Amino acid sequence: MSVVVLDQAPFPRDKVCAGWITPAVVRALQLDTTDYARERVLQPITAFRTGLIHGSGLETRYPDTVSFGIRRREFDDYLLQRSGARTQLGQALKSLDRSGGLWTVNGAIKTPLLIGAGGHFCPVARFLGAKLGATEAAVTAKEIEFEMSPEQRADCRVRADTPELYFCRDLKGYGWCFRKGGYLNIGLGREGNQGLSEAIGDFCDFLRERGRIPGNIPDRFHGHAYLQYGRSRRKLLDDGVLLVGDAAGLAYPESGEGIRPAVESALIAAAAVVEAGGDYRRQTLETYAGRLRARFGSVSAKAGGTVPELLRSVLASALLGSHWFTRRVVLDRWFLRAHHPGL
Ligand SMILES: Cc1cc2nc3c(=O)[nH]c(=O)nc-3n(C[C@H](O)[C@H](O)[C@H](O)COP(=O)(O)OP(=O)(O)OC[C@H]3O[C@@H](n4cnc5c(N)ncnc54)[C@H](O)[C@@H]3O)c2cc1C
Repeated sequence: MSVVVLDQAPFPRDKVCAGWITPAVVRALQLDTTDYARERVLQPITAFRTGLIHGSGLETRYPDTVSFGIRRREFDDYLLQRSGARTQLGQALKSLDRSGGLWTVNGAIKTPLLIGAGGHFCPVARFLGAKLGATEAAVTAKEIEFEMSPEQRADCRVRADTPELYFCRDLKGYGWCFRKGGYLNIGLGREGNQGLSEAIGDFCDFLRERGRIPGNIPDRFHGHAYLQYGRSRRKLLDDGVLLVGDAAGLAYPESGEGIRPAVESALIAAAAVVEAGGDYRRQTLETYAGRLRARFGSVSAKAGGTVPELLRSVLASALLGSHWFTRRVVLDRWFLRAHHPGL
């Protein structure tokens, strides 16, 4: 097929993200890790340090590599080059018109099929009716990634093979501190958009007090948002158009992992498009929505049923102090999704 990738950013570009990928992503992308690591950061992860913010940390080790740290700046550029698609980079989607079964993008590109892959704020999702910030319950997050100086490296007690995850007491979010080669990534995400700046400030104070990070980290954090699958619903498709990844709101609710669902939804979409054989009417593209439900679960089954807030904070402290709960539930199930086989 003749494919054009239109992106508002010139590549390589930064993407606000911790840059943690699970082995399922490596397999789904058929990533040649030796080739990739030759000129890029690919940090093997074999352990985690977890706990509550202002609490004590607990370490869980694995016998093998259970995840990798990448830099989105490198990772996304590598995949874009490898795809072989034609690109129009540094060009935002500004206009979208449809007539006679064809889309016209920016008054220039004509196509029978449009795939909205523009992330949380995707203009194609908005075209399909997404009401950003109005009816959607998003997680908002702030993050910083920087190359440490030799002094900062010496002062950083976070080990590269052991990312650190610290949960908010109400369990409505968590902060992370993630060392990848010579880079350090620090961030925090929470449900809703209230008090995020205070929460990230408090988190950094905690990390400094515990001596986990150097005292003089840059203070320009970057913000972004994402939807948790099953907690908000976006229209996924229409005649000649479908959404993948964050545009479709697919990040796993427990961890916020969104790279794996973005990659998997794109592969599922590609298969549905090939099978459609040029017939891109809504009814034909519905197979894509059906396969997404089969893969990620039906939306209604996931909504509701949250634990009351007071109970949450009491439970949080007890559960995150348990080695068993941390390994089997928090890490294996929520973050590594070891029970969920690859696509
Ligand atoms: C702080 C933070 C930390 C995260 N950490 C992790 C993590 O460690 N691991 C993980 O798996 N997930 C993580 N996620 C989630 C993950 O980043 C996303 O789920 C994932 O990037 C979604 O991929 P995507 O391709 O759908 O969208 P994106 O990666 O957001 O890509 C969208 C692309 O669309 C382009 N674009 C946007 N608007 C326009 C426009 N108007 N015109 C043209 N182009 C446009 C952008 O430039 C961008 O290149 C994190 C999210 C946040 C916010």
